[in-house]
Amino acid sequence: MMGSRFRHGQGATSERRDAGTRHHHRVTYSPARLARTLDAWSIHSMLERAFSVPALRGLAAAASLGVLAGCTHTGVYDTRSVVHPPLTTDRVAAVRQRVADRLAGATVALQDAHGARHDAAVGALPPAAALALMLAVEGGDDAAVEADRWVRLAESGRVPVTVLRDRERWTVKVGAPNASYPAARATNLSDRWGLGPLESRGVAWTDAAAAHVDRAVALLGVDERRLLSGMPFVRAHAATGGSSGGAVEGARYVQDGCSARIELFDGALAADETNFAGEPERPMPESVRMLVHEIGHAIHRAPGREALCAVEAERAVLERRRDDLSRRITAWQDGRRLKADRDALAEERTAFDTEVEGFESRGREAAALVHRNGPVLEAYAQALGDGSPPTRYGARSLGESFAESFSLYRADPAALERLLPRVRAFFARDEHLRALRKRGQD
Ligand SMILES: [Zn+2]
Repeated sequence: MMGSRFRHGQGATSERRDAGTRHHHRVTYSPARLARTLDAWSIHSMLERAFSVPALRGLAAAASLGVLAGCTHTGVYDTRSVVHPPLTTDRVAAVRQRVADRLAGATVALQDAHGARHDAAVGALPPAAALALMLAVEGGDDAAVEADRWVRLAESGRVPVTVLRDRERWTVKVGAPNASYPAARATNLSDRWGLGPLESRGVAWTDAAAAHVDRAVALLGVDERRLLSGMPFVRAHAATGGSSGGAVEGARYVQDGCSARIELFDGALAADETNFAGEPERPMPESVRMLVHEIGHAIHRAPGREALCAVEAERAVLERRRDDLSRRITAWQDGRRLKADRDALAEERTAFDTEVEGFESRGREAAALVHRNGPVLEAYAQALGDGSPPTRYGARSLGESFAESFSLYRADPAALERLLPRVRAFFARDEHLRALRKRGQD
């Protein structure tokens, strides 16, 4: 429900007729077709020309999702992207005035890099702080309690600014103009992290884009990284199959049977122009948070994927044995047709069919596991309790809620601590990984 974009293929147990024999072998169960799941991340991009954020498209619908889900609203991290022309000096007074008009009676504080807050008069706010505050107060989402945005000033370039809201108290943290991202390397990612190859679909990896993967993987814990072993990262302009509702996708986790990959689209790099994650003193690219989000899907889907991998390996073995048995049956038909040989072959075939039945049952279990929430999401739901997902996007499903929380835990832990301290503690205690291991012991 709730607009889940997972696409599930249909399970199928098909029968294959082998030439030269008169019986069927029912070993063509296809986990690949059973378990195709796609995950999409959407960015709601808004064009804004005159320094006012108009009614945000789709937001009314999004806002009702939390209510439908019966969530207690604890506030959301605002991931919306706002594009605005650079603020020129002559417009600063107008921006401050607009904020003052909207925030009559509210308290505004500036927070320095050491965490100290100083009450500030709106009329004296630095231009970047005033602009970021204006984008926040005009955002039209009452539940938005935190945003990390690059604001553009004509004179000094882009400035990372965090705006926090606690009821009528607003706090603004301003970073350095044109602050750089943490150092990263764009080469030997597969070797250094044990990932699969960087693949391209219509667009090559630039060093900048590859560095995002490096930063994302570097944020992970060792056991989380292990789940990405051999997983390719694919660069493409956009998702194949189109996007939904005019939203632009930034990244995607694709699981196709036993194989999985993470795709990075132009939309993520576009989001880096307007949003960042983390603290303004140490901004992390928004696309890194998006990649970590997709890695979150790889984590909670790991049990189903591993079960499918086991089934696929078993299928390969069974198919070889079936072919061998078929050959010997054919040889018997073409040969001397000894009764003793026939009896032995018949016995072997009966035993084989019994094994195939067991295999098919394991295949169905694996497929069911793929379609269930699974142990990680079940544990996460407990930690979330009656809290609301950390972002609007997270209201789409429990899986998206988990992925959003995980992305914040790794890319902006302070934000997750402010929004959902119990969920932050859940990750800090490695409970998401313990849920994976617990399943292995059942
Ligand atoms: Zn997702």
